[in-house]
Amino acid sequence: NSTINKIAAGEVIERPASVIKELIENSIDALSSFITIEIKDGGKNYIRVTDNGIGISPKYIELAFLRHSTSKINGVDDLQSLSTLGFRGEALPSIASVSQLELITRTKDNIGGVRISINGGQIIEKNEIGCPIGTTIILKNLFFNVPVRQKFLKSDAAEASNVSDIVYKLALGNPGIKFKFIKDNKVILNTPGNEDIKSTAYSLLGKEFVSSMFDIEYSGDDIKINGLVCKPSFTRGNRNHQYTYVNGRYIKNEDITEIIEDLYKTLIPINRFPVYIIYINISPELIDVNVHPTKTEIRFSNKEALKKILSNAIKSTFFNNTL
Ligand code: ADP
Ligand code: MG
Repeated sequence: NSTINKIAAGEVIERPASVIKELIENSIDALSSFITIEIKDGGKNYIRVTDNGIGISPKYIELAFLRHSTSKINGVDDLQSLSTLGFRGEALPSIASVSQLELITRTKDNIGGVRISINGGQIIEKNEIGCPIGTTIILKNLFFNVPVRQKFLKSDAAEASNVSDIVYKLALGNPGIKFKFIKDNKVILNTPGNEDIKSTAYSLLGKEFVSSMFDIEYSGDDIKINGLVCKPSFTRGNRNHQYTYVNGRYIKNEDITEIIEDLYKTLIPINRFPVYIIYINISPELIDVNVHPTKTEIRFSNKEALKKILSNAIKSTFFNNTL
């Protein structure tokens, strides 16, 4: 079993940033409103994620580290209307199999919590402990038992920058959650967690960025869109600041890029790209999210309808603002 977990870890867990992604997504799924992420040495030697979510009840703790055990799915039908980020039950067992991990967790129904230590997939200690409601996971020495993987890791700075990228994307996608990111003992990021897109984008991307953007908004029965699109003068030489979130999930989707870039084509020079942050909330039946194991790609069942709605939302923003 521990071998299977190590193999699975090869697919899901490539580097510190992939660990961070899985842990933060678990915290989001646990309905946290405050998530702290801490790394040292690019995450190679130390990773901590602390949340104030629902926690794991004592009798399920060991289960959480079993492969394909998830609390988020009950039957095959659930796969169709998935609203949580995780559902495969692979992340925790994979991460635990390739690191030295400590988990501290408490639910609201318990006056105390549980602390469990796992070393390369083996539980080495478990005891009761007083702690706040929520979950903390501390990871040391990632890939200590998989030397080939360790060798594949880049410099501390490069790994830290990958981690940072993931944290920023998840923080921007979840303006209702307060994110704090600490890197080598320094606080790098602190989002307000107040649902407000502009103040969240301010804390992540700066004042100039926010003041160069227009709001967009559309509200229909099956689909709601809001976000920020840039003034034509604020376009970039690359696509690095194009963010799309569908039902809270950061995604890459060529349809959306194309729809938005087409609208800007008459307004901006060639080889310049619009900057945007788009949040789409859509009935889960109208999308297919299960196309890729890392779940960053999705398909829309009605591309034409999406095009119409998104184009109109942006056009009316252009119309209402001086460009
Ligand atoms: P998945 O997210 O696909 O369900 P994981 O391996 O990531 O699988 O997590 C296994 C289970 O552990 C989850 O289904 C959840 O019940 C529990 N869990 C993991 N992280 C947390 C957390 N931060 N707060 C509460 N429960 C958690
Ligand atoms: Mg998960």
